[in-house]
Amino acid sequence: MSCKIDYQPTANLLENRVVLVTGAGDGIGRAAALSYARHGATVILLGRTISKLESVYDEIEAAGGPQPAIFPLNFEGATLKDFHDMAETLDREFGRLDGLLHNAGLLGRITPFEQYNPELWEQVMQVNINGPIWMTQALLPLLQQSKDASVIFTSSSVGRKGRAYWGAYSVSKFATEGFAEVLADELENQANIRINTLNPGATRTQMRRSAFPGEDASTLRTPEEIMPTYLWLMGPDSAGVSGQRIDAQPPRV
Ligand code: NAP
Repeated sequence: MSCKIDYQPTANLLENRVVLVTGAGDGIGRAAALSYARHGATVILLGRTISKLESVYDEIEAAGGPQPAIFPLNFEGATLKDFHDMAETLDREFGRLDGLLHNAGLLGRITPFEQYNPELWEQVMQVNINGPIWMTQALLPLLQQSKDASVIFTSSSVGRKGRAYWGAYSVSKFATEGFAEVLADELENQANIRINTLNPGATRTQMRRSAFPGEDASTLRTPEEIMPTYLWLMGPDSAGVSGQRIDAQPPRV
């Protein structure tokens, strides 16, 4: 499906919606949290570095956005109980969830498979796919309480075509695409929940710098520049879209 980089959201697009963003302290997740709040959402900021989440929180408050919430969680080591405790807290505080952006991600190492460290492989799979899967299961009852819930899984071009040396990261993104399709198909008859994957494309963040240290970062779109597609997919203008693989920006030429 073509990207919505030219989408023009209304100012109150996400008014009265409760949206959880994982990895909200940095990079694309930070931009999404700020942008969702600017368009009226109450944003739950989830991540592992509390100081970064606090800085996003302060920025939202300073801009006069709806009061956000901070939920510290490290996907490495997070247990099923942690996810269910989280669901219970969110149920008490909000009673429903209208949006879930699975954005937190770990690159691991770009290295020949022969040399891939099995522990690092497990870590990447835990953060990029296993944690998000079980978090989604715990949050389903809350998503079901919403009139129009959008669940977005973050993919990558290496989750659609394998690339040498990208190891666990690439495999985790293939799994992400697969899982989102399975769940979207399963929930086909629940019109109030849609599940899609979103590939941000090359974006100027720390992760991109680690993957391509020699690249001229000024040639890349910033996280803020790809927000139109993030807003479109989170908001009511994408109602009815489910089970799709969406790009946040046109492919680079
Ligand atoms: P980033 O700047 O490295 O940000 C990643 C975020 O994930 C950070 O907030 C980080 O928290 C959080 N995170 C990492 N490990 C975590 C853990 N164990 N528990 C909780 N949070 C954790 O990367 P990004 O470029 O914004 O990437 C965002 C998403 O887009 C990822 O899923 C990535 O795979 C995907 N993506 C990015 C690009 C690109 O060009 N940038 C391209 C394709 C796909 P800390 O800040 O605390 O480390």
